[in-house]
Amino acid sequence: MVQMRDIQMVDLNAQYQKLSSEIDAAIRSVIISTAFIKGPEVKKFEEELQNYLGCNYVISCANGTDALQIAMMALCLKPGDEVITTNFTFIATVEVVALLGLKLVLVEPDPHTYNISVDAIKKAITPRTRAIVPVHLFGQCADMENIMKLAEEKGLYVIEDAAQATGAEYIFSDGTRKKAGTIGSVGTTSFFPSKNLACYGDGGAMFTDDEKLASKLRSIANHGMKERYHYSDIGVNSRLDTIQAAILLVKLKHLDSFNSARRRAADFYDRSFAGCQEIIIPERSGYSSHIFHQYTIRIRNGRRDELRKYLEIVKIPSMIYYPGPLHTQEAYRNLGYGENDFPVTSGLCREVLSLPMCPDLEQDQLDYIVSSVLKFFEK
Ligand SMILES: *Cc1c(COP(=O)(O)O)cnc(C)c1O
Repeated sequence: MVQMRDIQMVDLNAQYQKLSSEIDAAIRSVIISTAFIKGPEVKKFEEELQNYLGCNYVISCANGTDALQIAMMALCLKPGDEVITTNFTFIATVEVVALLGLKLVLVEPDPHTYNISVDAIKKAITPRTRAIVPVHLFGQCADMENIMKLAEEKGLYVIEDAAQATGAEYIFSDGTRKKAGTIGSVGTTSFFPSKNLACYGDGGAMFTDDEKLASKLRSIANHGMKERYHYSDIGVNSRLDTIQAAILLVKLKHLDSFNSARRRAADFYDRSFAGCQEIIIPERSGYSSHIFHQYTIRIRNGRRDELRKYLEIVKIPSMIYYPGPLHTQEAYRNLGYGENDFPVTSGLCREVLSLPMCPDLEQDQLDYIVSSVLKFFEK
């Protein structure tokens, strides 16, 4: 019998083995060209991603956090402007708001989809609100149709954090589909190695259909320079390396098939856990395809940490995304929220567990993970 490969949260080596000849050739060709910064692959990747996403402009940058920051700078948000986002996300989403001196307004997610609650956004809007930042968490789009309706009514910008959802599709009530990140004023993503579309280091990008905004985003990412050595904006230095762009050009061709493989693994998890009382499987909304950046279950009865320890013993990695609500983090205490202001977020932080998820999970690995989890609950 062939021995089962060790299980990892994300098996990047298994993926590399399948693509190695293409990737090696891509990297080598950049090294030989010596066009390490702003080489032709960067522009080519931006164009191909534009085509894939069906949007007018893709502007690459150094990482997903920069993408969010540059987006907020380009929209000319000013200190004191209020920005509404979810309390259940990666810290990058909120830190850029704080860094720019904007007023961070946190709201609860929906406990079933884990995505920002539209009702909670409605309640948080004030005359000083300027932007909403929905995060398409774990690979599924937030309720964009209702978020856009609300934003249009109130004249607000929408900045989509699509770092975990490159390739996911939002389905409007009339059946139209749009890719995550291409619906709001501007969308942002990350190519961090574990993301669905990922490079071998840091990378990020911004998406928009608005020509003027695109030009401002590009300028800010490049020291605020539109014409050579003329600075119209205060900018930053945030670039996607040519080598990373060359790797992304290879991987973009496989993105849909990678995302389908993730969905097949998630379908198997769903079916296997359906009968288990202690496990709540992730809800799939009717309005988004799910590309399972993470497969995140909720464990009832306070047994999440015990399950996690058990899985560790049987050599199955698992992760808690996210262990602590953002409003209780030391750096964000000055927001003035009370410990118990976010019962939904706090509940999720106590119950969620993400299981191994990547396109290269083999059936023997999936069988082993599922039977181990179920065995724990039989004890
Ligand atoms: C990964 C991630 C980011 C930041 O991406 P980096 O490239 O690591 O800066 C931002 N938001 C979310 C939701 C993410 O998952």
